[in-house]
Amino acid sequence: MAIVVQKYGGTSVGDVDRMKRVADRISRTHRDGNQVVVVVSAMGKTTDDLVTMAARISERPPERELDILLTSGERISMSLLAMALHGRGVPAKSFTGSQAGIITDAVHGKARIVDITPGRVQQALDGGNVVIVAGFQGVSQDTKDITTLGRGGSDTTAVALAASLGADVCEIYTDVDGVFTADPRIVLGAHKLDRISYEEMLEMAAQGAGVLQVRSVEFGRNHDVRIHVRSSFSYAAGTWVGPKEDMVEDAIISGVAHDTSEAKLTIQQVPDRPGVAARLFSSLAEENINIDMIVQNVSADGRTDISFTLPRGDTLQARGVLEPLADEVGAAGVKVDEDIAKVSLVGAGMKTHPGVAAKMFGALSAAGVNIEMISTSTIRVSVVVARNDVETAVQAVHAVFGLGDDGLPAEEA
Ligand code: ADP
Ligand code: ASP
Ligand code: MG
Repeated sequence: MAIVVQKYGGTSVGDVDRMKRVADRISRTHRDGNQVVVVVSAMGKTTDDLVTMAARISERPPERELDILLTSGERISMSLLAMALHGRGVPAKSFTGSQAGIITDAVHGKARIVDITPGRVQQALDGGNVVIVAGFQGVSQDTKDITTLGRGGSDTTAVALAASLGADVCEIYTDVDGVFTADPRIVLGAHKLDRISYEEMLEMAAQGAGVLQVRSVEFGRNHDVRIHVRSSFSYAAGTWVGPKEDMVEDAIISGVAHDTSEAKLTIQQVPDRPGVAARLFSSLAEENINIDMIVQNVSADGRTDISFTLPRGDTLQARGVLEPLADEVGAAGVKVDEDIAKVSLVGAGMKTHPGVAAKMFGALSAAGVNIEMISTSTIRVSVVVARNDVETAVQAVHAVFGLGDDGLPAEEA
């Protein structure tokens, strides 16, 4: 008997009718003779609504309580879905993340799964049940408190469970047909990829392609889980994420990702002497603030500007750390720009194809988009642009590399 893990995202279970359709699909997979484990997200915008409600009750809600609150969204979905299956004559049992043995570290809001003990899941499966697990949550090994895995975390619950159960496939059901060469909501002619390697999907996800949470792809790669991203509204094949060896051909470019969740912070007129940057960045690290791109301008008169990007939600905290330090080291001050976006071109083939960055910059310039920062890895080129320019930038880069359907530039496809 094959073990199939299916994850249904928020839109897919957005209302009762959609929930019923999901139950039909699960029944079908069960009746086809598979053992089925289902991971569900909260219905529609429930998680956003809970976050808003918490913010209205308290300026800084305690992380522990916020996590308990947020996990309730997934619990509503899991129990309703179990009821829908019962109504169809399919035995089903739902479990919270903690009951399903999802063990995490103690970092509220972005906990990492450190172990999975799926005893109860396995037992319920062996008893002929469809098992439904609430996504995005676990329990801390140390504190025994309930934790959440970060936004989009149900993807990670699903892939991690698939790994620990030795599932044949992990199906991620969502509101688009698969992984596209760019967000299909921004580039209408974006092309659906039949396959993408873990490596490239990791880079796309890390650069903002929210269709899969980054950690889910890491889990998939580390435990060799085949991931099939597909639409919950059709039976068409989606995109397979797997090892490089499975890829039919090596495309030079896999896609364009964008991210509007970061801000840019500049420490102005920093004295250009050894040890200053180390001091600034180590104090940010001590506060667990994740830094992304860093740019240091050419020094003039012994002073230089240092800019970096960081999650927008962390700017207040970063300012709090850096303002007194800027004073201490004799810098002029700290400036924050929240209206930025990052646009990244990703592709394993760019390692061996010179000129990719130049072509990207040329397209941006022709579209009148100013580049504020640049960073690269062996399989990625990223730029920071003004937030207002993000759609133009993504469309221009997508078009110049002919990523649209039929190989036509996206606008014409
Ligand atoms: P779910 O609720 O099912 O987890 P998400 O909203 O988290 O769904 O992820 C699906 C969304 O990801 C799509 O609606 C799409 O707008 C967005 N997205 C961004 N980049 C891509 C991409 N390259 N391919 C497909 N979808 C993308
Ligand atoms: N409900 C959570 C969120 O909206 C987790 C998920 O859907 O994956 O981020
Ligand atoms: Mg998601």
